[in-house]
Amino acid sequence: MNRQEILSRIKENPEVSVLIVGGGINGIGVFRELALNGVDVLLVERGDFCSGASAASSHMAHGGIRYLENGEFRLVREAVRERNLLIQNAPHLVKPLPTTIPMFKRFSGLLNAPLKFLKMLDKPSERGSLVIKLGLMMYDAYTDAQGGNRIVPRHKFHSRKKSLANWKLLNPEVLNTAVYYDGAILQPERLAVEILLDAENENPNARALNYMSMIGGSENTIILRDELTDENYDVHPKLVVNAAGPWIDFTNRKLGLSTRFIGGTKGSHIVVKHDELREAIGENEFFFENKDGRIVLIFPLYDKVLIGTSDIAVENPDEVRCTEEEVEYFLEMVKRVFPTIKLTPSNIVFQFSGVRPLPHSGAKTTGQISRDHSIEVVSGDWTNLSFPIYSLVGGKWTSFRAFSEQVTDKTLAFLGMKRQKDTRSLPIGGGRGYPRTADELKRQIESLSAWTALPKDRVQILFERYGTRAESIATFMSGGTDQVLRSLPDYTRREIIFLVQHEKIHHLDDLILRRSMLAMLGRLTLDSIHELAGVLSNALGWGDEQISAEVARTLSILADRHGVRL
Ligand SMILES: Cc1cc2nc3c(=O)[nH]c(=O)nc-3n(C[C@H](O)[C@H](O)[C@H](O)COP(=O)(O)OP(=O)(O)OC[C@H]3O[C@@H](n4cnc5c(N)ncnc54)[C@H](O)[C@@H]3O)c2cc1C
Repeated sequence: MNRQEILSRIKENPEVSVLIVGGGINGIGVFRELALNGVDVLLVERGDFCSGASAASSHMAHGGIRYLENGEFRLVREAVRERNLLIQNAPHLVKPLPTTIPMFKRFSGLLNAPLKFLKMLDKPSERGSLVIKLGLMMYDAYTDAQGGNRIVPRHKFHSRKKSLANWKLLNPEVLNTAVYYDGAILQPERLAVEILLDAENENPNARALNYMSMIGGSENTIILRDELTDENYDVHPKLVVNAAGPWIDFTNRKLGLSTRFIGGTKGSHIVVKHDELREAIGENEFFFENKDGRIVLIFPLYDKVLIGTSDIAVENPDEVRCTEEEVEYFLEMVKRVFPTIKLTPSNIVFQFSGVRPLPHSGAKTTGQISRDHSIEVVSGDWTNLSFPIYSLVGGKWTSFRAFSEQVTDKTLAFLGMKRQKDTRSLPIGGGRGYPRTADELKRQIESLSAWTALPKDRVQILFERYGTRAESIATFMSGGTDQVLRSLPDYTRREIIFLVQHEKIHHLDDLILRRSMLAMLGRLTLDSIHELAGVLSNALGWGDEQISAEVARTLSILADRHGVRL
């Protein structure tokens, strides 16, 4: 169903069982679960899908070893399981990630850990190797306890000598390294959209709209505003799921509720182009505690390196940006691990910042705030609203499915419905039928290339980007006259047109920031922005004025939020 059809249906019949406000990964996860279980559900997102906290993550599918120390064993067990499920269900976009912890201290953390666990220590400080060893043994045990195939290998400890032999540019002051496995979510924004499209395909009564804000409501009505046309729509839900992440309290306020569920913390990242650093880390993420106890990472993102992150309490999620101090901190942190590598701000090709929707808490440091998730219920009886509101507080990208499952069970019980399907082993988007071996992948590429008459290397690129959705995209590309983009020869016009027609793209920035990695990997030029705008203008019927407005909007977002000046 296209946007116009969805809007006409809302006008004809404003009744809906569940309205989800917020199209980040948690809203989208609940949307998929409800769709699968036959619920008529409408999801509204005021911007593009996956453009809030879900677009600011460190790209890790992880159990979070660190949370063991806060005593969050349930969360770690759940997240390790969900990490494994993501690697299995979305193998095109979530890959096993060898993760290396360089250690510069042997004992100190041992003293800190129990104190932290007992909540007696205010300031974090660097963990020692013994504590890390214990943590990794527990982490492995969680993976083992889940039975079946081992999705990722167990951890290994390396001596100083072996560590320096493995990583030639590593700081010689290192005492040990430990290598364990987590998952890399290579393109979180694409993954989220694929989950959403799966849900819509499953159930014609599951409808999702980006650029649609929830602006108010009373009694049995919620008012939505179409951000593309400024038109308002009324809907009458039986239940509202507030999945607005760091904006949950702002959203509740629009309904006259003064909640204080969220105490968000800001985190920033930079993406750098630095071939020596990229080579130095290989396919490993370096993940460790910096001198001041903050958890930081150096992460291989395609041919670039992702570096982060900070953890700073903030009030207004709309205002967060990566600051010069944060950049300085990241560059210093890299120097500590790879002292001979010269990294400067000129190597930065992209930066981003977002707010973790953590629960409001009295923790003394941001690191101590729980990363677990909960459903806060405001019943219709306490308000002038005829429906209850479930606010989804906290949670991680990794564990979105488990959280969504819990929200859905509660919602189904409220609606008096029974669960019919679950998502545990449900493949996601281009992960469906994805080849499990390199040979099988080669065969699929060859046969698709033969079938569509597209060159093998082009089909291979499509598989890397879209998994098995490459089949529909390649078929569409070969179904008409196509043209390689002059400024981005690994893309063609028809590939972009396919994305516009099937993936709810309304603005140029949807394409460059979220349906592709073009912005994040620093691949844009003024020329490519104009060329892409030209392709979109054909697909979306833009006139000259709109093309100029879209280019201006994109350049302004890139400069303001991502430090990219073209
Ligand atoms: C710096 C950082 C690093 C992280 N790293 C990781 C990691 O490596 N691994 C991991 O598992 N997790 C990580 N996380 C956590 C994870 O990204 C978040 O917990 C998760 O994305 C939250 O998703 P959400 O859907 O609840 O919120 P969001 O993604 O913020 O979605 C909420 C949406 O609601 C929309 N909205 C707000 N108000 C309205 C309204 N009135 N009407 C309509 N829509 C509205 C917003 O536009 C937004 O898109 C990280 C988070 C941050 C910030």
